[in-house]
Amino acid sequence: MDPVEVAAAPDAGPGPTWQSKCPWGAPNTTSISCSLADVMSEQLAKELQLEEENAAFPEVVAVAEGPFITGENADTSSDLMLAQMLQMEFDREYDAQLRREEKKINGDSKVSISFENYRKVHPYDSDSSEDEVDWQDTRHDPYRADKPTTTPRRGFTGKGKDITTKHDEVVCGRKNTARMENFAPEFQVGDGIGMDLKLSNQVFNALKQHAYSEERRSARLHEKKEHSTAEKAVDPKTRLLLYKMVNAGMLETITGCISTGKESVVFHAYGGNVPEDKVIPPECAIKVFKTTLNEFKNRDKYIKDDYRFKDRFSKLNPRKIIRMWAEKEMHNLTRMQNAGIPCPQVVILKKHVLVMSFIGQDQVPAPKLKDVTLSSEDMKKAYYQILNMMQQLYKDCNLVHADLSEYNMLWHDGKVWLIDVSQSVEPTHPHGLEFLFRDCRNVSQFFQKGGVAEALNERELFNAVSGLNITADNEVDFQAEIEALEKMNEDHVQNHGKKLSVFSSNGDPPIYDE
Ligand code: ADP
Ligand code: MN
Repeated sequence: MDPVEVAAAPDAGPGPTWQSKCPWGAPNTTSISCSLADVMSEQLAKELQLEEENAAFPEVVAVAEGPFITGENADTSSDLMLAQMLQMEFDREYDAQLRREEKKINGDSKVSISFENYRKVHPYDSDSSEDEVDWQDTRHDPYRADKPTTTPRRGFTGKGKDITTKHDEVVCGRKNTARMENFAPEFQVGDGIGMDLKLSNQVFNALKQHAYSEERRSARLHEKKEHSTAEKAVDPKTRLLLYKMVNAGMLETITGCISTGKESVVFHAYGGNVPEDKVIPPECAIKVFKTTLNEFKNRDKYIKDDYRFKDRFSKLNPRKIIRMWAEKEMHNLTRMQNAGIPCPQVVILKKHVLVMSFIGQDQVPAPKLKDVTLSSEDMKKAYYQILNMMQQLYKDCNLVHADLSEYNMLWHDGKVWLIDVSQSVEPTHPHGLEFLFRDCRNVSQFFQKGGVAEALNERELFNAVSGLNITADNEVDFQAEIEALEKMNEDHVQNHGKKLSVFSSNGDPPIYDE
């Protein structure tokens, strides 16, 4: 079996308790004041992050190095996790055996018997309903005996003189030996299980007692250790979540980390197979949204005012808000997929973990537009494609990317792919048009600098995408008009409970109703 392992980040120093417990490492507490636009800029985010990382982790690369799941670098620091993994591995083997038996019994028979209810590993999405509860809480106890071979209720097996009862000394002794297997994995039982060893009830009970007290002791130790290992790049619960996906066969292997950002860590994985007819892409990207809120505070603005999430936002705890980011990315990707925009295809969402198709090949992610050198012909092609995509995004998906730049566009298969849409909002978001204008500015600047003579300037691009007709010929006035429009819409919503029809995305010239 392959235990999950992520290299440990070093102790990031003291901080408020909730921070020091946070598995992502406490951030540097130097606060840098900057405008919203700066905060939202991916480029700035990357720079700040680099600075932070250099300061906090001088030499260590947190996750980027080394394989993610391997046999060699087993993390033995967490007994419970190891036990759970072992259990899952056992369950999977058990199921495989069950399937073989099912097949053998059924053969070519027209009437078949299903062992489905006896399976231990259930399809990877079977527990989506327990979203509010951590799955390991609802799982059965990993230390519990799985299916002890019991004597039938009538109390004996066999026939005539071969009858044996449950009190038979030999049977009982063997059974006691076998039961030792159910002790905690770290409890050394020697190789007695493999031998025809017969333990008396008395010896067995004494051993059992000892095993339990050992278990409690190791639980206490484990609790202590947990604090020191908490600085890992993904927290144990996330690791279990990932492991579960591997174990359920949905993912073949998680090979390594592609990117560690402020708000997410992205891994590469090879897709597996699932019994259902759902097809898993051969290569997947797993985006794990970081479960600490400090980096997300900046982004409140996006979700708080997004009416789709409005009712839910105020009632939620930080953990749920982070799941909401993941959920938002999923919904937005789905909209884009439906509109035919090249983007990752959603495979599954599990709490704060989003699995999607991988853009790239053989573990190598497609380069970002900022990192690739395109011929002038390709550059022009890319520009028109993006113009088209921005219009589709606005009109067909009713979305504004809100972090669109050469950092969130990948070049793959001779075309541009859009990624990173967790912060995308609808155009009627109170700041939606400002976000769009910023996107337009990034795109215009990139292509103008890149030598595309046809590239519209940011204002022309804004009008071309939104279908609005803002006539201001300078940036300041243009921006002011955008804000006035947003305000008008907000007031309209306040007073009339509906949006301005200027936002009806039919491409017609804007009509201000009343
Ligand atoms: P963030 O910028 O918020 O950390 P992104 O969604 O932009 O998150 O992902 C970070 C990086 O991970 C991207 O720049 C890209 O290099 C890589 N990446 C993300 N999703 C995929 C994907 N589906 N296929 C290939 N690479 C991806
Ligand atoms: Mn990004």
